[in-house]
Amino acid sequence: MAASAHPPRVVVLGLDAGTWDLLDGFIARGLMPNLARLRSRGASGKLQSSDVSSSPVIWTSIATGKTPQKHGITWFVRFPEGPGNPRPVDRTQLTSRTLWNILGDKRLDVAVVGWYVTWPAEPVNGRLVSDIAHYGSIDDEAFPPGYLSTLAPVKESEAISAMPSFMDFAYDPSRATHREGEPPSLDFLVYDRFVRAYSRDLFYSRATEALLRDGPLPEALFVYLRGTDDVQHGFWKFMDPEPFGDVPPDQVEKFGKVIERYWSWIDARVGEILAHYKEPPLVLIMSDHGAGAAVGDNVVTEHRYLHLSGAHRSQGILLANGPGVRAGATIEGAAVYDVAPTLLHYLGYAVGDDMDGHVLTGLFDPSIADRPVEHVATYETGATSQPAPALPRPGEAVDRAQLEHLRSLGYIE
Ligand SMILES: [Zn+2]
Repeated sequence: MAASAHPPRVVVLGLDAGTWDLLDGFIARGLMPNLARLRSRGASGKLQSSDVSSSPVIWTSIATGKTPQKHGITWFVRFPEGPGNPRPVDRTQLTSRTLWNILGDKRLDVAVVGWYVTWPAEPVNGRLVSDIAHYGSIDDEAFPPGYLSTLAPVKESEAISAMPSFMDFAYDPSRATHREGEPPSLDFLVYDRFVRAYSRDLFYSRATEALLRDGPLPEALFVYLRGTDDVQHGFWKFMDPEPFGDVPPDQVEKFGKVIERYWSWIDARVGEILAHYKEPPLVLIMSDHGAGAAVGDNVVTEHRYLHLSGAHRSQGILLANGPGVRAGATIEGAAVYDVAPTLLHYLGYAVGDDMDGHVLTGLFDPSIADRPVEHVATYETGATSQPAPALPRPGEAVDRAQLEHLRSLGYIE
């Protein structure tokens, strides 16, 4: 496949905290037919995470091929007003160009939905729905300005109506607040780990649907869904009570299938997205890190985080499917930094010498694997490479909601 011969469209799906430890079983049990199909005719393996187990940092490494030191996103929050006053990171701290910047410069039509650290939305050669658009009515939430602005945030009532498909629990929103010093209620757990996650993922799934339905199919689509991480943090011990020793059987009954059902729901979203493509695209699915029980070295000891029972693990998943992919291959030694170089090579473009990964040739047939890897010193010189202007925050309410989420995960004090 030469670069001039119209390479296939590309669909990059970021699914947070995926681990084959779980997904192998879900696939074997028929819970994820889309991933099962993609995997059986694709190449897959583990994806080594970065040293910093912070999702905005890692998803930015995936999008740039670079370490946090180079791309500028080093933690969930930053402290522009001094310690004790954290602010969520945003694109104005980003110091590297992303795949959608680079591909856009090559005149590829790109679309980006919900990817971490994309607010404030920047001009791209295509469409972009930023990662806090789900809060609704925020300046710079999308590009072109106002794009999909009629898509409403998902109402809590909608997540509540969906609940019976995920758990057997009589949820009461009035009990879902967490008071300082008190153990979190089950209702709080469900609100914090399911309602918010589902609402966010549903919003970005709808945004993706609207984007694929209303406009031309983008040549490169990037979609990120995060709820798979929220549910593993919140519901691991109900799925896997043994290492915890103290999980009441009735709670295992109520919540034991939340994680598998959530992945099953995500699998249906993957199917929905791919159904738009008549010609098979290159599909790349990846996770920033894996997940496992919060026991042993990963144990949660601090009282206020006792509602968390799943923790990150250093290996996520990587799955490739589509034209040029070596069907049935197992890929070894892949790392998050390799995604960007690999995608550029696949599309017939040079890899930046300042990127920290390498092309995963093992994913591909000889037509792509044997093509010499071309190099360019850097992509940090393109037309749209300009520092983002310092813009006002989206408002206290959105900042507060984001910080509250990070606090409930124990990422910040
Ligand atoms: Zn997490």
